Amino acid sequence: MSAGPRTAIVVGGSLGGLFAANLLLRAGWDVHVYERAGEPLSGRGAGIVTHDSLFRALERCGVAIDASLGCEVVGRIALAPDGSVVERLALPQVLTAWGRLYHALDSVFPTARHHRGRTLATVQSEDDRVIARFSDGSASEADLLVAADGIRSTVRARWLPEVQPEYAGYVAWRGLADERDLSAPTHATLFDRFGFCLSGAEHMLGYPVAGPGNSTTPGERCYNFVWYRPVDEQRELESICTDATGRHHPMSIPPPLIRAEVIARMRADARRLLAPQFAEIVEATRQPFFQPICDVQSPRTVFGRVALLGDAAFVARPHCGAGVAKAAEDAMALVDALAVAGRDVARGLAAYQALRVPASVALVERARTLGNALESVTRPHRRRAEARLHHTPQAALREVAIPLSMID
Ligand SMILES: Cc1cc2nc3c(=O)[nH]c(=O)nc-3n(C[C@H](O)[C@H](O)[C@H](O)COP(=O)(O)OP(=O)(O)OC[C@H]3O[C@@H](n4cnc5c(N)ncnc54)[C@H](O)[C@@H]3O)c2cc1C
Repeated sequence: MSAGPRTAIVVGGSLGGLFAANLLLRAGWDVHVYERAGEPLSGRGAGIVTHDSLFRALERCGVAIDASLGCEVVGRIALAPDGSVVERLALPQVLTAWGRLYHALDSVFPTARHHRGRTLATVQSEDDRVIARFSDGSASEADLLVAADGIRSTVRARWLPEVQPEYAGYVAWRGLADERDLSAPTHATLFDRFGFCLSGAEHMLGYPVAGPGNSTTPGERCYNFVWYRPVDEQRELESICTDATGRHHPMSIPPPLIRAEVIARMRADARRLLAPQFAEIVEATRQPFFQPICDVQSPRTVFGRVALLGDAAFVARPHCGAGVAKAAEDAMALVDALAVAGRDVARGLAAYQALRVPASVALVERARTLGNALESVTRPHRRRAEARLHHTPQAALREVAIPLSMID
């Protein structure tokens, strides 16, 4: 065994991959990241709820934690469909944006070690090394491969082909409205709060995030909304994932290709179903987009010298607002377990799996419970009555995207 630094390949240069790569590098590993996209990633997702563990991981990666990281809300508010206030809850939280985190993590990782435009094709794990082969014909060898290649992970498919994203029966429409485009009454009611509106089966929420150029200056911020809507897989999902040329995009259509009539119908539904303040936010959003909500649950996350991390390993529905924090916790657990195990990489990986699989199963299950009422609209549901207990304004304020430290 060589006495030099241990070597690691990280597949996927998004948030999960960058957490792992930065932490491994700081722990003395010789790390290289391989990302399929040729350019730095941008504009992916929108708002991100922060948690203590997310801040801890950022700090460990060398990212400065200051006011520029996000927008602070003092509490939560639930609006009835007529716009009146149903409930309030004091709960300070910091909301950041996907792009803000990505740039922060990317800027602290050496560019020369980040190989963009490189797609992993196959991976082979042997006793004490792993070999990654890329679609351009090149190959790389290391002591460890971290698969942070997302919900449709190539690496997971190699060992767990039966684990596929399972559509939950509803989608999340998302978007950002410029603060300056909002009317004074809507701004006064909602802007500095984490807002909710439940109307029939509809579940809308929103919160302020940094605006263009990551500005958190009042007047330059955005309001981010996430609107969960039941969508039947056969009849409706296929239709809204079909672009104007008739091409079908299975499960996720690029935002600019969403048909104008689909967006117009969604805006009309917002006016009909939601509190007028939220309908105004939807109206003011220039490029709304939607994401089908899925679950992914892997029975194992370690295969020889390979570890799954982030969305490649588990995807919890977004109701816990913790997908990024989970990826950050995975990365910290992995690097800490490897540090304890020293040169015994296999032992470190076993400890990582033993710690993170149960924690991730619990998060997926909690998020599923919070989303059961939405799921029960389009699918037969064994726990329909129980599901409704979580679909009230009071439950939303106390349960959705709360700090992970408040969950018992
Ligand atoms: C509607 C919605 C709302 C959400 N809201 C929140 C929230 O409020 N808070 C939160 O924390 N999380 C939220 N999430 C979840 C969050 O976006 C993810 O959990 C998080 O970004 C972790 O992703 P990842 O890095 O593991 O994977 P990804 O971000 O999917 O990255 C995978 C990367 O791997 C690359 N890749 C894929 N295949 C290959 C290959 N073969 N070779 C090389 N590269 C490859 C891809 O190009 C990509 O860059 C939300 C998700 C959804 C759908």
